[in-house]
Amino acid sequence: MSSEKFGVKVYSYDWHLNQGLSPDQAAERLKNQGIDFAVVQNRYVPMASSAVESGLSDRQQAKLEALDDRDFAEALQEVGLEYWAACNVFFAPDQLERHPECRPVDQFGLTARKIDWYVGICPSCESYWKKRKAQVVEAVKELQPYGVFLGFIRFPGFWELWLPHTKRDDWPEFCFCSRCRARFAEEMGIDDLPEEGADPQAWIRSQVYEKFVEWKTDLITERVGEISESVQEVKPGTEIMVNTLPFIEDDFSGAGREVFGQDKRKLSSVTDVFELMTYHQMLGRKLHWIGNTIRRLRKITNRPVSSTVQVKPYYTEGMHAGRGREAQLSPKEFERAISIARNAGAERISFFTWADLLETEAKEEVLENLL
Ligand SMILES: [Zn+2]
Repeated sequence: MSSEKFGVKVYSYDWHLNQGLSPDQAAERLKNQGIDFAVVQNRYVPMASSAVESGLSDRQQAKLEALDDRDFAEALQEVGLEYWAACNVFFAPDQLERHPECRPVDQFGLTARKIDWYVGICPSCESYWKKRKAQVVEAVKELQPYGVFLGFIRFPGFWELWLPHTKRDDWPEFCFCSRCRARFAEEMGIDDLPEEGADPQAWIRSQVYEKFVEWKTDLITERVGEISESVQEVKPGTEIMVNTLPFIEDDFSGAGREVFGQDKRKLSSVTDVFELMTYHQMLGRKLHWIGNTIRRLRKITNRPVSSTVQVKPYYTEGMHAGRGREAQLSPKEFERAISIARNAGAERISFFTWADLLETEAKEEVLENLL
């Protein structure tokens, strides 16, 4: 028996629509696979399509409508699994149409546009934030989960594209919208911030950047804290898992904290578990990078770390083709990724995604042998 907990990200309804499993059968399947926890998509906090989802037929749509997320949550808990409600925070492209004021602005003053499936939301935008927070609270009320998983809880950026041969300066940095600038100036006591037209972005970056980073990281930490407080009122003891970028300390010159606003030390005060996206193939890294990344995060937080490993390769086609990512991820490599995460001391290890695991018998066998 191992002391780690094993989990899956359930980011589609594939188990029901394509595998034909009922909630009870799905729960049994997970239990038999040796899974202890599941981070699950739900309709209380609608999950926009990412690289994972595909279009549904009318028949599938009808089948999906008849499925109640509460039944799956209950089925999992009945067989002793932890059900974590997956809640994407600052990612909801359809909401940007309703809240154009939430569109982030980069260091050049350019408004964020969709790249592939991704466009983020400005974390200081209250109109959107209030709605999303209310959805998370509703999810907790209805699903009574073990915990809440906060995805995209950061300043915007398509971090999966940050391959080793790229530099931090190659990428946009957010958010320099007029609301963020005004809030920053007010909350941090900056009196001489230049007006629009005088390149306030460059001024912030050259004159008061560390203060700006403090403000960004405080805001993200506060957002997690606000959700934590609100869900405690509905279901005391609900744990908070924070979806964390695998950019630790000085990776990409401190981008995890400075660009994406995730300060792991600050976040430790409001987080029960750090979920670390150790997606080595997506980021063009070797397997040992998984272990190093986990160890480096563990050094700066006393919270448990949940390392998520990929089951199959991603970002190998279309605009992502030919960028140096491996096109294959063999069962052997999957097995080694799990062992490396284990040896690095991750308290939890999860698999991205459950649908990918169900697709590949050889990888299910890896689990059978290991767990
Ligand atoms: Zn902004």
